[in-house]
Amino acid sequence: MPQTENVDVLIVGSGPAGMSTALHLMDADRNWNGRVVIVDKAIHPRDKLCGGGITNGGDNILEGLGFRYDGPQVVVQELELIYRGHSHVMNADPVFRVVRRNEFDHWLARRGQSHGLTLRQGEAVTSVVPKRDHIEVVTERAVFHAKVVVAADGSNSTVLKELKWNRTAGQARLLEILTSEAPDDRAFRDGVAVFDFSQAGSGLQGYYWEFPSLIDGQAFLNRGVFDSRVQTKRSRAALKQVLSESLTNRGRDLADFPIKGHPIRRFRSDSPVSAPRILLAGDSAGVDPLLGEGISYALGYGQVAAEAIVDAFARNDLSFVSYADRIQAHPLLSGLKTRVAIAKLIYWPKLIWQQELAWRFSSMILGGFQRYRQGFGTRP
Ligand SMILES: Cc1cc2nc3c(=O)[nH]c(=O)nc-3n(C[C@H](O)[C@H](O)[C@H](O)COP(=O)(O)OP(=O)(O)OC[C@H]3O[C@@H](n4cnc5c(N)ncnc54)[C@H](O)[C@@H]3O)c2cc1C
Repeated sequence: MPQTENVDVLIVGSGPAGMSTALHLMDADRNWNGRVVIVDKAIHPRDKLCGGGITNGGDNILEGLGFRYDGPQVVVQELELIYRGHSHVMNADPVFRVVRRNEFDHWLARRGQSHGLTLRQGEAVTSVVPKRDHIEVVTERAVFHAKVVVAADGSNSTVLKELKWNRTAGQARLLEILTSEAPDDRAFRDGVAVFDFSQAGSGLQGYYWEFPSLIDGQAFLNRGVFDSRVQTKRSRAALKQVLSESLTNRGRDLADFPIKGHPIRRFRSDSPVSAPRILLAGDSAGVDPLLGEGISYALGYGQVAAEAIVDAFARNDLSFVSYADRIQAHPLLSGLKTRVAIAKLIYWPKLIWQQELAWRFSSMILGGFQRYRQGFGTRP
């Protein structure tokens, strides 16, 4: 029989949401180090399908902890927004940075470990049962009696499944491929990323992207399609076909590349994000339905979850009734509601896209979001 371990806070998942929660607890008071255990089914550096684009919002949260990621990355200085032959170009230094998630998440995990946080890797959670005065969490190696559990285990969260919180309705779909490129390609030389909304008029509730990435020092474009499915009644776009057509237009054949797919969970203001002794953070709680941005939001959730935990233990009230309000009060996470509203608007009627209104609207909004310091030009 595995040993029973008592712990104040058990964090399930050591991605950006889980590590941010732990690092913010440690930042609030070093004494938390001995009161927190993080478990992850994987062992870092682990694969994580992701474009790896991190915006200023995420950087700001890391800077608040005194950290700056200095691992391999491509700094994107030009973002090209395309819609059927038109393109808007946005410049900033940076617009965002592109990291590889196996390296970035490993770096975050090491930051925690070097500050004394307990991270148990290769230990999957298999069962979660709320009891009267604790949550019983069974992993492959132990039975935890946790006063508080943070579900930071991603969009296919085991914790949510175990708690029978049916959240399948809110999933966005993504496909991604990697294509090897010449290192002197403009995407790498000038740091150029692309969002192409051309297929939004024909059913896709999202866009095709190209991000320059470095994998073991080699130049690759990560390319993919994001389908928010924010308008659930609209018929589903044939995602593989959309990706195939986008690649054909760029002289590539999808058949030449292995495709990987993974969902992300969209933020919905009507979905619960907490219960007594339980907090959701990151993808399990819901991220951006407009562009599919999740890393910065996951880091933001971690900050809010840590603040809620510190406050809950100080008041001896582990109900977490005000967690949703805390999310709405956070400077970054409060923007999720706006992104839901914009996504619902621009990914709705085909008609809007046919008149190109949504396209103009989205490029304006995107420009505003990023508060670009440098030029915002238009190409014919
Ligand atoms: C194709 C694709 C492209 C994307 N591109 C971008 C992008 O460019 N920029 C951006 O901001 N976002 C992007 N996202 C979204 C982003 O990847 C997620 O929003 C982000 O990873 C959420 O972080 P998280 O910490 O909540 O979850 P995750 O990063 O998924 O971490 C969850 C952790 O929980 C662990 N875990 C899972 N189950 C268990 C279990 N049973 N027991 C123990 N541990 C468990 C996992 O091993 C993992 O380490 C993309 C997503 C996809 C699918």
